Amino acid sequence: MAAFVLTIVSAVAQTKNHVIPKDQSLTRPKLVVGIVVDQMRWDFLYRYYERYGMGGFKRLLNEGFSCENVNINYIPSFTAVGHSVIYTGSVPAFSGIVGNDFIIQATGKSMYCTQDTTVQTVGSSSTSGLMSPRNLLVTTVTDELKLATNFRSKVVGISLKDRGGILPAGHVADAAYWFDDATGNWITSTYYMKDLPDWVKRFNAARYAEKYLKQDWNTLYPISTYVQSFPDNNSYEGKFAQAEVPTLPVKTSEMFSKNLGVIRNTPYGNSITLDMAKEALDREQLGKHTVTDFLAISLSSTDYIGHQFGPNSVEVEDTYLRLDRDLAAFFVYLDKQIGKGNYTVFLTADHGAAHNPQLLMDKNIPAGFLDGKQALKDLNTLLETKYGIPSLVLSFINYQVNLNNILISKNNLKEDEIIADCIRFLKTWPGIAYVINMKDAQATTMPDVLRQRIENGYHSERCGAIEIVTKPGWYQWYGNTGTTHGSPYPYDTHIPLLFMGWGVNQGKSNKQHYMTDITPTVSALLRIQTPSGSVGKVITDVLK
Ligand SMILES: [Zn+2]
Repeated sequence: MAAFVLTIVSAVAQTKNHVIPKDQSLTRPKLVVGIVVDQMRWDFLYRYYERYGMGGFKRLLNEGFSCENVNINYIPSFTAVGHSVIYTGSVPAFSGIVGNDFIIQATGKSMYCTQDTTVQTVGSSSTSGLMSPRNLLVTTVTDELKLATNFRSKVVGISLKDRGGILPAGHVADAAYWFDDATGNWITSTYYMKDLPDWVKRFNAARYAEKYLKQDWNTLYPISTYVQSFPDNNSYEGKFAQAEVPTLPVKTSEMFSKNLGVIRNTPYGNSITLDMAKEALDREQLGKHTVTDFLAISLSSTDYIGHQFGPNSVEVEDTYLRLDRDLAAFFVYLDKQIGKGNYTVFLTADHGAAHNPQLLMDKNIPAGFLDGKQALKDLNTLLETKYGIPSLVLSFINYQVNLNNILISKNNLKEDEIIADCIRFLKTWPGIAYVINMKDAQATTMPDVLRQRIENGYHSERCGAIEIVTKPGWYQWYGNTGTTHGSPYPYDTHIPLLFMGWGVNQGKSNKQHYMTDITPTVSALLRIQTPSGSVGKVITDVLK
């Protein structure tokens, strides 16, 4: 008791001059930089390891802490969901971000994850800026940092994709910027500001996208030396609209006159995002304030290129080799601007990606395509024959069947009966492992790990009544070439997670962790409250 009183007395004495002695002040990093590499499978850390330099992925692995066994613990493993979970520690059941697009069940209307018609575009006359984080129903770690510092911390989100910048930056961000294909400008919305800062206007005026695309996309090394060069011209890869074959080099200099969005599908999309991030660091003086700032970056080109060419392509390999160089330069910039050891970086992914099912089938590996469009058509035909009403099923998205609830109630139909009809029909489709009535998910026999992922991903106001889980190796068909993601299986859910810098141990662990653990760990590092919907655990091995 005496010691306690003494502490109080001495604390009062010390704060008299409004100066807190250094050894008693709370230390935090000057800056946190979150990097999401869109569609980065965990195994990409090692598939191209030999050719990574010492300053990029290998610097994170050698100087930082690598959580080697991190999985996504919900479905569907899509971009908006991944970004929101990484930064909230929550799951779609709470966050409300259940897909890139979803159906508001009460109205039957489709909603894009960051759609907001109450705001306007800033920086272009296009509609690409009608966006905000309002559909996200929980706080982010960036929001909590703002709350912890009475909004003194600066938070900026940057990504080619609106959702990649907006969701991580949270509800009280100073800014989120994304790329506008129509103008090649970095834009934002009136949710954040009325006019672009001068530095963004100057950055846009420098026309970096054109400068990059004029260089064409050639391989960094002779193409025959690539792991994935079996041959580059193959039927599993999608070609650019203006190209004859899906091969490198790509004449990007001849492709951008009508649409600068072509930069998304080249490694230059990542380069220009990191250029913009460096400019933001410098101009917004991030890491130079009395409190911790937060820069949330998402690198989208890995995803666009992955979708087009698939994970076993020389295009994806070259993209990662170039990204490794860009990251190395970015870390050098951070060292120079903020000081080595004064900032904390984490790098992860919003989801992985499947192998192209046709490639697997041709190698006798179990896989296949599920034709969702045909399933929807046949399902509606079946229901119309029985009930005499067309279009009782609205859509088949996020691996869910969305019923037309308004039509069902208007015609006094029995929803349970329709659900049973749908389930009976869908179970006969090839490639389907489980069809689940979400009103009673417990009634379906399935592995525990799958049940948890389904329930974590289900928000009753925004999800369809029936959930479909494909067999491993199968995905919903959207074309024969390239790839996609969304399943609960390791190729889609096993993601990299690396921390480096202030407060971070050096090392590696194969312990099982989940995407929901990222934000609790960052919150613990910053000694701030974990966000409002957070369900994850702190990865204690990471922290000093
Ligand atoms: Zn993604």
